[in-house]
Amino acid sequence: MLNFIRSDLAQLTAYQPHPGGTSGEPVKSDITIDRLDSNESPFDLPSELKEKLAWNYQQIIENNRYPDGSYVALKNAIAQYVNESAQTTEINLNNISVGNGSDELIRSVLIATCLKGEGAVLIANPTFSMYGIIAQTLGIPVVTVGRSETDFAIDLSAAQEAINQTQNPPIRLVFVVHPNSPTANALTAKELDWLRSLPENILVVIDEAYFEFSQTTVANELAKRPNWMILRTFSKAFRLAAHRVGYAIAHPQLITALEKVRLPYNLPSFSQAAALFAMNYRQELLATIPQILAEREQLINSLSGHPALKIWPSAANFIYLRLAPTNSDRTAKLTALTQKLKSQGTLIRQISGGLRITIGTPEENQRSIQRLKTTLDTWEF
Ligand SMILES: *Cc1c(COP(=O)(O)O)cnc(C)c1O
Repeated sequence: MLNFIRSDLAQLTAYQPHPGGTSGEPVKSDITIDRLDSNESPFDLPSELKEKLAWNYQQIIENNRYPDGSYVALKNAIAQYVNESAQTTEINLNNISVGNGSDELIRSVLIATCLKGEGAVLIANPTFSMYGIIAQTLGIPVVTVGRSETDFAIDLSAAQEAINQTQNPPIRLVFVVHPNSPTANALTAKELDWLRSLPENILVVIDEAYFEFSQTTVANELAKRPNWMILRTFSKAFRLAAHRVGYAIAHPQLITALEKVRLPYNLPSFSQAAALFAMNYRQELLATIPQILAEREQLINSLSGHPALKIWPSAANFIYLRLAPTNSDRTAKLTALTQKLKSQGTLIRQISGGLRITIGTPEENQRSIQRLKTTLDTWEF
């Protein structure tokens, strides 16, 4: 059937935003759902800002017209924000490309570097799944190395070995997340030094999706590293996941290449307006971050004494934990735990042998703690 479809796609499945959404215990419709599985902000825009944005839509956007495809105003605002955040003046609109979520930019950079058998991609698992997924859909080989089981640092000797040994095609693109998802650790000085040591014919993409939470950035190094690119997003700290806006910061020639391969009007007018709005009101929007960080510490403190759990520190708006090695059947127990929480209305992400839990509102976090503990306390370990 449908023999015109590329044969290798048969092995792939479509991305499921909420894994397990169709299996396991159904979520009852009369309970509150705590969506702690996608690392979004738990806070919608404040209503007065929502009204201002709606006014914007009503007064400014002409629905019959294509969006402004140059994104000049948005790119200028982003450049200013990036300079501010990195205490530099080096970034301008020629260093910025915007995408329909940073997911689109991941695809663009793969198309611009590795397609047609020209390059392979290196990633260190566990990490953000979209790099591997999008590379696969484009037929681009993905080379994976591991991380330390204690602190999730990248196995740098394996990574160097992979770069030395991989041929036909060679590795042309390295993806890292700073801080990593799902494990929440920022790049270490040693990892950064290794990235700096890579030759200029390898592009290093540093995904700073959680920058506003971690305050760790390499933006002040970009000017001297033409083979580095930063990705950021409006989907997390800026509370605009609904609008799908991400951006890349890089050397102007790489930005030109990304612009060549993107679709003409990749950002709808509404999304552009929302992102520009977020830049203009960034102080108000980012004001929730200290609360999220305080909640994160409380979540970690409340769970870390539990003998059944191992919890790691976090530089992002989520925590990562695994079951302590003393547990038997850890995978089955993780699945049972995830399903139990889901049946009570708390959605979390079971991933890479552990659980990733987004920091929610104080009420949501209290429920997470209580539900996790109650379930664990019924088990023997
Ligand atoms: C959430 C996330 C993104 C954001 O993707 P968008 O397409 O901009 O919503 C990018 N990278 C990582 C590592 C993420 O966790």
